[in-house]
Amino acid sequence: MDFELNEETRLFRDQFRQWVERDLLPLEEKEGIHQDAPVPEAIAKRVRMQSADLGFYAHHMPEEVGGGGLGQVVSVVLREVAGQTGSVLADVALAGPEGPSPMHVVFNAAQREKYLAPVIRGEQTCCFMLSEPGAGSDAQNIATRAEKRGDVWVLNGTKHFITNGPHADWGVVFATTDPSKRARGGISGFIVERDQYAIGRVHHGMAGFEGQAEIVFEDVEVPEAQLIGKEGWGFAQAMGFLGNGRLNIAAGAVGVAQYLLDLGVEYAKERQTFGKPIAERQGIQWMIADSATEIYAARNMVYHCAWLVDQGRDATKEMSMCKLYATEMVGRVVDRMLQIHGGMGWMRECKTEAFYRSLRVLRIVEGTSEIQRMMIARAELAR
Ligand SMILES: Cc1cc2nc3c(=O)[nH]c(=O)nc-3n(C[C@H](O)[C@H](O)[C@H](O)COP(=O)(O)OP(=O)(O)OC[C@H]3O[C@@H](n4cnc5c(N)ncnc54)[C@H](O)[C@@H]3O)c2cc1C
Repeated sequence: MDFELNEETRLFRDQFRQWVERDLLPLEEKEGIHQDAPVPEAIAKRVRMQSADLGFYAHHMPEEVGGGGLGQVVSVVLREVAGQTGSVLADVALAGPEGPSPMHVVFNAAQREKYLAPVIRGEQTCCFMLSEPGAGSDAQNIATRAEKRGDVWVLNGTKHFITNGPHADWGVVFATTDPSKRARGGISGFIVERDQYAIGRVHHGMAGFEGQAEIVFEDVEVPEAQLIGKEGWGFAQAMGFLGNGRLNIAAGAVGVAQYLLDLGVEYAKERQTFGKPIAERQGIQWMIADSATEIYAARNMVYHCAWLVDQGRDATKEMSMCKLYATEMVGRVVDRMLQIHGGMGWMRECKTEAFYRSLRVLRIVEGTSEIQRMMIARAELAR
C-alpha cells in the first residue's frame, strides 16, 4: 500500500498553495474581501481567468472540452489546500457551482463551443437550476414543465435557492417533459441564457449576504438546440455526476477543519488563565485531540474515495459517506475551536464566528445529511 501522492500531484498542489499565499491572500487583505460579503465580480473574474491560465480552474474537466483532464485525487488535494489556507478567493479559483462541472460534458459540440468554452476560460459563469419550492431532496418531484410547441420548448415554473442565478451568463434548468416517466426518461435539461429567465425573490442566507435567488420561467421559449443530452434523460445524466461534487465538498471541509484546528492550537498556546496557557488544561487538550483524530479519519476517507474514483470503481456509497462524515465533522471542529477562543470566538473580529455560520450549509447542499444516510443505508441493505 502506498499513501504518497505522486510527484506531479505534489508539484501541482504546491504551485496552487504558493499562488494562493502569494497572490490571493494579499489581494483579499487589500480589497477587504471576507466571507460575509460577495466577492466583487471584477475581482472574481480576474481570479477565475488567472486560475484558468494556470491550469487550476478546469483541472477536473476532460481534455476534450478544454480541461486539464486531471483525476479526482488531484481535485480533492486542491480543495483541501483551498480550505487549509482559509482563503475566500481560493474557492473562487476552483470552480464552484458557477463554474464548469463534469455534468456539462453531456453538451453537444455546438453547446460546448458556445456555452461551455467561455466558462472553462473563466470569462463567463453559469448556474444549476434544479430545486423548487415544492421539491428539494425529492428532486424528481419538480413541477417545472417543458412542453414541445412546434420547434421550440416552452418552459413554465419556479426554481429557488439558485446559487449565482442573478449573475450567471447561462444556466442548466431541469423540467418535466413526460410527467408519467419522471426520473425514468421524463425529466430533461435545457440551457437557458440570462435574458431568457426572470429573477424572483432573492434569498438572504446565514452566510450574511444574498447568494441565492428564485428563478421564474413564464412561457419561456427555448429552441431545440438548447436541450442537453437525450430528451427525457437530462436529469438522470446530471445525477450521475452529483457524487463528484459531494466528494469535493468533503475535501474542502477537511481543509477548513485543519485551518480551524491550527487557529485553536495557536490560541490555546497563547491564552493564559489561572497562570498557565489554556493548552496545558486537559479540557482543552481533549477538544484538540478529538478534532485532530476526526480530521485524520475524514482525510483518509476522502483520499481513499478519490482513489477509488480514479480506479474507475463505483464509489457512490463512499462519496455519500465522505460528504456525511466530513461535513458533520467540520461542524464539530468549528464548535470546539470557537469554544477554545472563549468570548473572543463569538466576536466578529475572530475568524471562528464567520466559519461557524458559513459551514452550517454544508450539511444541507448537494444532498442533506439525512439523504446521504438514506443512500448509504440503501446500499448496505441491497448487499
Ligand atoms: C446555500 C444554498 C445553495 C443552494 N444552491 C442550489 C443551486 O445552485 N441549485 C439548486 O438546484 N439547488 C440549490 N440549493 C438547494 C439545495 O439543494 C436544497 O436545499 C437541498 O437539496 C434540500 O432540499 P430542501 O431545502 O427542499 O429540503 P427538504 O427536501 O424539504 O428537506 C427538509 C428536511 O427533511 C429531510 N428529509 C427529506 N427527505 C427525507 C427522507 N427521505 N428521509 C429523512 N429525512 C428527509 C432533509 O434532510 C431536511 O432535513 C441550495 C441550497 C442552499 C441552502
